[in-house]
Amino acid sequence: MAQMRTPIESGVPDNRPFLHPALLKNYGRWRYHDRPRPGVLHHVAHSGDEVWSVRAGTQRQMDVYTIRKLCDIADQYAEGHVRFTIRSNIEFMVSDPAKVEPLIGALTKAGFPVGGTGNSVSMIAHTQGWLHCDIPGTDASGAVKALMDELYTEFIREDMPNRVHLSTSCCEINCGGQADIAIIVQHTKPPKINHDLVANVCERPAVVARCPVAAIRPALVNGKPSLEVDEKKCICCGACYPPCPPMQINDPEHSKLAIWVGGKNSNARGKPTFMKMVASGLPNNPPRWPEVSEIVKKILYTYKEDARSWERVSDWVERIGWPRFFEKCDLPFTKYLIDDWRGSRANLNASTHIRF
Ligand code: SF4
Ligand code: SF4
Repeated sequence: MAQMRTPIESGVPDNRPFLHPALLKNYGRWRYHDRPRPGVLHHVAHSGDEVWSVRAGTQRQMDVYTIRKLCDIADQYAEGHVRFTIRSNIEFMVSDPAKVEPLIGALTKAGFPVGGTGNSVSMIAHTQGWLHCDIPGTDASGAVKALMDELYTEFIREDMPNRVHLSTSCCEINCGGQADIAIIVQHTKPPKINHDLVANVCERPAVVARCPVAAIRPALVNGKPSLEVDEKKCICCGACYPPCPPMQINDPEHSKLAIWVGGKNSNARGKPTFMKMVASGLPNNPPRWPEVSEIVKKILYTYKEDARSWERVSDWVERIGWPRFFEKCDLPFTKYLIDDWRGSRANLNASTHIRF
């Protein structure tokens, strides 16, 4: 008799045991959906079943007490099922419209804003930061909290021209990805090398190969094997710091923040786009990052006022042109901004060969 193949213990786990029963029953068989109010999605299945999903913002990095509180709300006011969206919003599903308002009331009372659907500013996608990653130059969650406190009303309303996705990334490698407006760490000085530690901690060939502009060379320093950086070539990307922590690039004064605009992942109404840098060298200024918030809000509200219906930020900039964008947003334009990587094939290390 044929043997059953042993399951491969990797990949995405099967989500079906955790789905709300109405979602499981009607999986892939939905007729239409609409949005009765901001923060609520209403799905109607071909079977006639209806589901209301209530979306609330969370802080993404949650302690166990907050998760228990959300689960208690799900048990008491919803039907015991929740799911998280990719932007760290939580959704509660109910199959009875009478449960929607009490659920919204309970979430609001517990401090979770209901919104983030349709043409709102959705929760900022942010990277793990110091909690979970080894190379951050700032606290992504802190900048998100400070900014979302100011954009709270844009989360609970749906009156932007189109949806607005924001992101923050706490290193230049940028696992936050493309966004309409993104806040990204920007190192402005080459790494400082602690030569006493390099030989013990770093795999030097791996570090040399990591540099995108071939600025790192092996070197003997004080009789010990170490590394040196050609500072004229270094573009301060920070890629050498993860495999070699003694090449410290984070600096309270010289690690800054930059703002990028016009990224989009979706194919809706236009092709995906890469974002471009529009402001740089902003101070990394916790706990409220006021200089960053001011520019993000200026860009956001200029877009809100000036864009046509259904234009994403990238479509709006495309229509008015970059010079007008800088004028309208009161941002200075310098030659260092809007790098679109034309010419990167010639000046970046795109092969696995080491060149000196
Ligand atoms: S943005 Fe960079 S530092 Fe922050 S979590 Fe992602 S990879 Fe780590
Ligand atoms: S990896 Fe980046 S930061 Fe490190 S030396 Fe090369 S260019 Fe400079």
